[in-house]
Amino acid sequence: MAENVLILGTGCAGLTAAIYAARAGLSPLVLEGGQPGGQLTTTSEVENFPGFVHGVDGNELITNMKAQAERFGAKFAWDRIDSVDFSGPVKKLVGGEATYEAKAVIIATGASPRLLGIPGEKKYYGGNGVTTCATCDGAFYRNVPVVVVGGGDSACEEALFLTRFASKVILVHRREKFRASEIMVQRVKSHAKIELALNCNPLEVLGGEDGKVHSLRVQDAAGAQRDIACKCVFIAIGHVPNSQAFTPALAVDDNGYFVAGDNTVSTRVPGVFVAGDCADHVYRQAITAAGMGCRAAIEAERWLAGL
Ligand code: NAP
Repeated sequence: MAENVLILGTGCAGLTAAIYAARAGLSPLVLEGGQPGGQLTTTSEVENFPGFVHGVDGNELITNMKAQAERFGAKFAWDRIDSVDFSGPVKKLVGGEATYEAKAVIIATGASPRLLGIPGEKKYYGGNGVTTCATCDGAFYRNVPVVVVGGGDSACEEALFLTRFASKVILVHRREKFRASEIMVQRVKSHAKIELALNCNPLEVLGGEDGKVHSLRVQDAAGAQRDIACKCVFIAIGHVPNSQAFTPALAVDDNGYFVAGDNTVSTRVPGVFVAGDCADHVYRQAITAAGMGCRAAIEAERWLAGL
């Protein structure tokens, strides 16, 4: 029998959608994908989620959201959707473990930060000096030098944000020319706390016996190598939205993000909604993802009621 609502993803967006849909009596089935709990599980402390005066552990927040959804009757299973058929009134989704049928679908599959793939990156990822989120982790690196890798708007934005905390921000970019908008580049170039390391390719993240990062090894265009001292490497080389399994059924933009209607969650397929980082390249925060999950569940509920 077809599910009322199938929710894909258990980050902030998916779990908030699950809480709302479950509380509306829809008994949603929620599929945990490749990274159960989403990006919050890769960060240590979340200091900007409203309601937690002294911050909250990312895993704890996610665990609590899941328990809250279960309390209202959400069901959970593990699977990854490979392909979909949204042509009929009942949506069909083919996963590695099973094929699912649902009247309404909420896709909250998130986006994965692009990583460099260099030695040391995975070893220190999380709380030890490699991260992909300045908003989440910047405040942990006060009065110490940090590196930002990338040459797009995200890297510039992260570098500027980090100047609030760090003693110095070294922006490492593999080319001379930036991909970022001119206004961002000018802000970065004119900031007293930001140093540029251009034409530099990151080679390895290096750490000490304390298990923490102490530098980033880079190679310049002439082949010379040097180590840039830093306490954290912020990687900002773009995100990859997890939308591949849903095209061409759903529309995506040039970067692969779902294209939604004015309410930010409806797609061109009636009854299929999107929420969180797979549909948002602008804000990408836990709280905005949660907000989209809430909207998607309310829209799904209204849509089902109108059937
Ligand atoms: P992006 O524009 O794709 O830039 C990614 C940057 O990372 C590029 O400079 C790229 O270098 C570099 N890079 C990629 N792979 C790399 C690797 N393996 N090693 C070293 N460097 C690597 O991504 P983004 O900055 O996240 O921006 C994504 C979209 O969101 C853009 O459309 C952007 O305008 C938008 N955005 C806007 C704002 C804003 O308006 N405030 C803020 C953030 C993002 P190359 O240049 O050499 O390719």
